[in-house]
Amino acid sequence: MHCPFCGAADSSVLDTRDAAEGIQRRRRCRNCHKIYKTVERVEIGHPPLIIKRDGRREPFDRDKLIRNVRKAADKRPLPVGDIERLVDDIEQDLIQQGRLEVPSKTIGDMAMDRLLKLDRIAYVRFASVYLNLADLDDLLGVIERIRHEDADGA
Ligand SMILES: [Zn+2]
Repeated sequence: MHCPFCGAADSSVLDTRDAAEGIQRRRRCRNCHKIYKTVERVEIGHPPLIIKRDGRREPFDRDKLIRNVRKAADKRPLPVGDIERLVDDIEQDLIQQGRLEVPSKTIGDMAMDRLLKLDRIAYVRFASVYLNLADLDDLLGVIERIRHEDADGA
């Protein structure tokens, strides 16, 4: 932070307060001794837009994803909060990737990767809806992945 009056970089902080706009500090320039104010904000990233199958874009909808995963996990013995954590984890990943747009399929894949580790039945149910599994071969492919996962874990 440079002094707005003389441009010097060196300042001392007189006081600090936490305001709605961010952390406000009053500083005194060590060069010209004038006082100025700074506001520091934490940058919060945004999840990317989701490209739907028909090409339209929509904002990432955390609640919708929670609903879909919850539907797949209906009556499964999952601890409370697991699904929310799974979706939070996906949202964090998306924000960190910093991309502007991702296909909805990517979200589906991310959810499936995590569901596979969480609950096998929920994973297959979610896959059958999300991948729009039309025939048995596709479904067998999904189940095959569970076998691989088991083999890796053994
Ligand atoms: Zn100055």
